[in-house]
Amino acid sequence: GAVIGILGGGQLGRMLSVAASRLGYVTHIYEPGAAPAAQVAQACTTAGYDDTAALDAFARSVDVITYEFENVPAAALDLLEQARPIRPGVRALAVSQDRLDEKTFLEGLGLRCAPFRAVDDLASLRAALDVIGMPGILKTRRLGYDGKGQVRIDDAADAEAAWAAMEGQDAILEGFVDFAREVSVIAARGLDGQVVCYDPGENVHRGGILRTTTVPATLSTAQRTDAALLAGRILNALDYVGVLGVELFVTSDGLIVNEIAPRVHNSGHWTQAGCAVDQFEQHIRAVAGLPLGDGGRYADVVMENLIGDDMNRLPDLLAAPATQVHLYGKAEVRPGRKMGHVNRIRRG
Ligand code: ATP
Ligand code: MG
Ligand code: MG
Repeated sequence: GAVIGILGGGQLGRMLSVAASRLGYVTHIYEPGAAPAAQVAQACTTAGYDDTAALDAFARSVDVITYEFENVPAAALDLLEQARPIRPGVRALAVSQDRLDEKTFLEGLGLRCAPFRAVDDLASLRAALDVIGMPGILKTRRLGYDGKGQVRIDDAADAEAAWAAMEGQDAILEGFVDFAREVSVIAARGLDGQVVCYDPGENVHRGGILRTTTVPATLSTAQRTDAALLAGRILNALDYVGVLGVELFVTSDGLIVNEIAPRVHNSGHWTQAGCAVDQFEQHIRAVAGLPLGDGGRYADVVMENLIGDDMNRLPDLLAAPATQVHLYGKAEVRPGRKMGHVNRIRRG
């Protein structure tokens, strides 16, 4: 059978690897450092992204390369791409690695984002605050996740401290969106251009980390359609192959795109309990060139992340009815660390 290479050995890589195995594929994971995904993949390389010999050997050992991690260095991608196809493509990765490029791309498609300005020093931050107003959120352009590398600015007097928190990294100032709720839409595009969309999920964050995703989300029919159409527009514009996550703010005058993730997404874990073909299998189908599964939803689901000490509740969760438990095999519990998740099925 074919071999699928996965860049990144976190829980997303692990669940992709399980889905690939179910379809008869072998997976080879590339993850600098120890990785829970390595426990389920048939092969794992733990060399760094600067190790050209290891990257080359990895690429030659697989038929197609995908990723669960969007911050793979560009030089490593260039090298890998010379040997094997990378799906989704390098353009999708490049766009989503940088919040400024991402928002510029999205606005270029006619989609709405929070107002934004590039910030590369204190003077440009002050100028951006004058234009955008307050409150605003200053974010590093690159490498942020789970709300890390972000500072809210409510008062012009906070500008200096906010810029200092960026530690010299290029940043972006966004206007604060007064949203009614947050939703995300998970969509996929196949090698033949077919697009399949899942029902949007409603997301609740705590301390910058996704806490729960609930389906169905509280949305009008028009908003549901808008979400699917905008996801399709992004997928087609990037000539995308694979699963994409799109985070949205719901406001009184429509949907605003917060950010996109060129991979399976935490807010799509409910599909494991709500759909015949979940987001992990869907992604593997896409990158392997198989037809996509349907995106139909067969149950109401609440997905809850198990973060840090939530693991103390494991005995209760295992005993709860209609509850699917997923654990990522991480040896050490740390505050803020995603250890697993549960899918509570509300209706069959
Ligand atoms: P992720 O782990 O989803 O990649 P991230 O670190 O990239 O997170 P964002 O998604 O940009 O961070 O922001 C985290 C959360 O902060 C959002 O889900 C939202 O609740 C809030 N937030 C971010 N930007 C804005 C904004 N412009 N207006 C209002 N709230 C915002
Ligand atoms: Mg993000
Ligand atoms: Mg986010």
